[in-house]
Amino acid sequence: MNEPLPPGSRIGILGGGQLGRMLALAAAELGFDVDVFCPDEDCPAGRVCRAHWRAAYEDLDTVRAFAKGVDALTFEFENIPVATVEAAASVRPVRPGARSLELTQDRLIEKQFLRGLGLATAPFAAVDTVADLGAAAASLGVPAILKTRRFGYDGKGQVLLREAGAAALAAAYAGVGARASILEGFVPFTREVSVVLGRSLTGQTLAWDLPENVHAGGTLRTSRVPAAVPAALAAEAVRQAEVIAHALGHVGVLAVEFFVVGEGAAAHLIVNEIAPRVHNSGHWTPDACATGQFAQHIRLVAGWPLAPVTRHADVEMHNLLGSDIHGWRALALDPAVRLHLYGKHEVREGRKMGHATRVLPLR
Ligand code: AMP
Repeated sequence: MNEPLPPGSRIGILGGGQLGRMLALAAAELGFDVDVFCPDEDCPAGRVCRAHWRAAYEDLDTVRAFAKGVDALTFEFENIPVATVEAAASVRPVRPGARSLELTQDRLIEKQFLRGLGLATAPFAAVDTVADLGAAAASLGVPAILKTRRFGYDGKGQVLLREAGAAALAAAYAGVGARASILEGFVPFTREVSVVLGRSLTGQTLAWDLPENVHAGGTLRTSRVPAAVPAALAAEAVRQAEVIAHALGHVGVLAVEFFVVGEGAAAHLIVNEIAPRVHNSGHWTPDACATGQFAQHIRLVAGWPLAPVTRHADVEMHNLLGSDIHGWRALALDPAVRLHLYGKHEVREGRKMGHATRVLPLR
């Protein structure tokens, strides 16, 4: 079961978005065939793979039949039900496994897991009612951010709480759909960085150089590499991400987002969140490194060893959100830009339509 899969083997991907699409393209380069499982009719990954299985994630009979047709599986989306991954894993290996998903798809469980590993997080409190929110705001202070425990991404399911009066509390609670949430103390960060690393079946890890990330409205806009942080801080971030990857028994690529608080030698790290998959802040890696995150992930899913990730360029990666896509002509004509478009037919405000990596000389 732990033998490396030979080229010609089939890899199944649960989820059909742009991450699945870029994974499928990388898998094709290594000689694998990819089948995608996604409930959406017209998904970005579905158009670049061998077969697109269209069914609900809750349809476990179809999930098992899908798994039977492939040699190993992975997922590209962390809101897939754990039961779906477990059903697939009863048939074929799923890498990473259900544990990586289970501990990261609920913000409260994730924060408790991080604290249990001795890592720093933003102060937080569980919120199930408006009364809980009032108590949490009183203890954490404002501003604070209310986030749904589950099914949040790209700033969705988040509300900034600026004051703790009854009306503000009620509005914030309604703003997250009156759902089980956590309140997080606001972290006065100086910058945000992430560690994207791969962990192999045999437990080796290898991280790319850290990107420095800029978000707007909760969504990543830009990643720049190298990050303007001291080498010792970058090494500490990698160490913490390795602790997380080992504790999850993770196989594949994983990303950990950090807040950096303070400057220079006084700077310290706070873990923001874990993504148990390839990550938007690693989208520059295929354009600037010996091995990109998508190829690395596929290698690890196939039980192959880690490949080197040496960086040969500095980069600035810009997400193309919504109508940004209409600027494709200038980007396509710029020889310093590597343009990646996701084949999404409908342009919606804030939707991730593609990204452009500006490749700069290594400093
Ligand atoms: P998240 O989806 O939780 O990663 O949040 C998206 C972005 O919102 C982060 O990358 C930060 O820029 C900002 N953010 C989230 N939580 C906090 C916090 N506790 N303090 C300050 N900024 C935050």
